[in-house]
Amino acid sequence: MTAAHCWVPVPDGSPFPLQNLPYGVFSPPGGAPRVGTAIGDQVLDLSAIWAGTPLGADLAGGSLNRFLRRGPREWAYVRGRLTELLTGTEQRRLVEANLYPLDRVRLHLPFEVADYVDFYASEAHATNLGRIFRPDGEPLLPNWRHLPVGYHGRAGTVVVSGTRVRRPAGQRRGPDGAPVFGPTRQLDIEAEVGFVVGVPSAPGEPVPVGAFSDHVFGAVLVNDWSARDIQAWEYQPLGPFLGKSFATSVSPWVVPLAALEHARIAVPPQDPAPLPHLAEQQPWGLDLALEVRLGDAVVSRPPYRETYWSPAQLLAHLTSGGAALRTGDLYASGTVSGRLPDQRGSLIELTWNGRDPLRLPDGSSRAFLADGDTVTITGWAPGADGVRIGFGEVTGTVVG
Ligand code: MN
Repeated sequence: MTAAHCWVPVPDGSPFPLQNLPYGVFSPPGGAPRVGTAIGDQVLDLSAIWAGTPLGADLAGGSLNRFLRRGPREWAYVRGRLTELLTGTEQRRLVEANLYPLDRVRLHLPFEVADYVDFYASEAHATNLGRIFRPDGEPLLPNWRHLPVGYHGRAGTVVVSGTRVRRPAGQRRGPDGAPVFGPTRQLDIEAEVGFVVGVPSAPGEPVPVGAFSDHVFGAVLVNDWSARDIQAWEYQPLGPFLGKSFATSVSPWVVPLAALEHARIAVPPQDPAPLPHLAEQQPWGLDLALEVRLGDAVVSRPPYRETYWSPAQLLAHLTSGGAALRTGDLYASGTVSGRLPDQRGSLIELTWNGRDPLRLPDGSSRAFLADGDTVTITGWAPGADGVRIGFGEVTGTVVG
């Protein structure tokens, strides 16, 4: 079957073909923030399309949350209607009047982040970190294949792509073992995939693996900036704290699950079989290819498809004790790394904790990030009709 023709031009290689229709929040020149969808190199003002209706009111604010809360039936309705409008003649003048060039608008944090959880779901990443820090022991700790290890992060420091990241100060172990306070010397990135919750759940009622798509709306790219020296000194015995909560960047476009149907793939074999509350008939992940650039240089191509724990298992585990979901909850995969050295999603792995600095094309080298460095993560997945679904990018520049 041939896909219906989209009359809005979509340049070759655009991350935003008709089959994507990601959601974000933008301000047109001189205007207030509102919800839009990206199509080609333009953004369509959805609040104008549904103006005068309750849906339009929910699309007129500065976050996606009220739309996210509406749930899967309405998400499907809006997506279906947008596809009709962008391929048909009905209301074409209204649509044309509310398209803005992407390079003329300001993009905002797409949703108000309720809670933020970060996991550790990539086996290659967990294995690399185990080898770096416990070279004489088993790389994976005994719990790792039984539950998705994770921690609660800081929702208030989640920022949209493009936000500058200030190098954090903190306590780290000094050369003689005594702590010193000062700017981190080991500023790192973590290339991750984040999932955005739309529909809340009730306290005390776990969300089973099969209910994933009743609650989760879509996915974003995440750069979970990390200060390794601060983290190493503070994390025992309670886990990550200030070294991981100063900034977490997300891409401005939330790609709906509906756009990722063709990217579904089985996760790698799980052995031993997960306990019943994590048992998914066919655990599925996404064939999502990430790329990490430091300045102009591609330094890694992490394959999300190799991630051990599935998105539904992460959600089931997160709620298995009865924790309720709220609209705007963000939970991320943890650093995505593949088995190959050039597929590692953090500098601590790429440079083996600084032992093997990266050589950059300009002749400089990096063990960790320098002030002025810009890190950009992009992501692509296979979409319907043979097209590629782009996530756009999450980028950030380090300032001292
Ligand atoms: Mn992380």
